[in-house]
Amino acid sequence: MHQSLRSILTQVCFRSGLLYGLQRLGDRVHLHRRHGRLEFPYLTNWRAPGFQILTYHRLTKRRDPFFAGIDVELFKQQVGFLVRNYAVMDLAEIVRRLDDGQAIPRNAVALTFDDGYRDNYELAFPILESFQIPATVFLTTGFVNREGLLWNDKISYAVKHTRKKCLTFGCQDTVHFPLHTVGERLVATRTILFQLLHDPHAWKLALTDALLKDLDVHDFGDLWDSMLTWDQIRRMKAKGIRFGAHTVTHPILSRLPLEEARREILESKEAIEAELNEPVELFAFPVGRAADFNSNLKKTVSELGFRAAVTTIFGTNTGETDRFQLRRVGLDEPDLASFAVKHCWYKLVM
Ligand SMILES: [Zn+2]
Repeated sequence: MHQSLRSILTQVCFRSGLLYGLQRLGDRVHLHRRHGRLEFPYLTNWRAPGFQILTYHRLTKRRDPFFAGIDVELFKQQVGFLVRNYAVMDLAEIVRRLDDGQAIPRNAVALTFDDGYRDNYELAFPILESFQIPATVFLTTGFVNREGLLWNDKISYAVKHTRKKCLTFGCQDTVHFPLHTVGERLVATRTILFQLLHDPHAWKLALTDALLKDLDVHDFGDLWDSMLTWDQIRRMKAKGIRFGAHTVTHPILSRLPLEEARREILESKEAIEAELNEPVELFAFPVGRAADFNSNLKKTVSELGFRAAVTTIFGTNTGETDRFQLRRVGLDEPDLASFAVKHCWYKLVM
């Protein structure tokens, strides 16, 4: 569909009663599909209430293309919309109710934040508090209290700040990136991050170090202040924000030997439990696509005492969804209307 036509339809839907109608419809039914194809009778009743889990990472006050995040004002609008139209619930509470055979509202939604960025405390927390709604933050515990940084953030920072004017990257097929303009630096960053994402963790970290050396960047300045501290985490916990585990160093677990993956999961759980003095029941698989975990990892997460695990596989959940493979919805939308309409539409299509 043409971009501007879609945007007009989105606005019409958002500003009329149509969105409300779609929402109520989505609480009752979803599209009837088999093997990915729409099939008669086209709509089918939810067998149990469907609930959505929203994924957030970073929030920002000033847009920085090297460190993408949702604008704080837009986040505030989204939360306001969700509070007015949905039952925003604590994810652990939803899971507990499902485990106990209790009902959840038809329009339940849970908010989650991955990785443990400091803006979750500085920007998101005051908004969550003012609306008095819960959320779950999945912590990469090795990065709390300035003890480490995500490899992708290091690369983004280095390419953004290096004094070098070109970069050679790659082993067999080397690529030369000019770094004269912001645009060129963004292209270099995105290409490198995309290429490294699927590599085994140790290899990825070694290449990151080599790249930083090449770029002659040895300090990360204010990037060190981009992750949460345990103090901030405790302050949020005191006001009802919940914390889940997201490993120690954020590797793609399916690319690690199982023993090593188990250690990553367990040590992040134990670190949070020791700091917060309460059991950690939820886990988020790093990166979280279907290829990033497997049945052995789900079994490990369950054996280590978690009640549920979330992925980044798109979709809506019900009480019948595998509790260790919960789906989420990440909505990177430029305005409230498209967020609201897509959020609603995605429930209808599951
Ligand atoms: Zn993550």
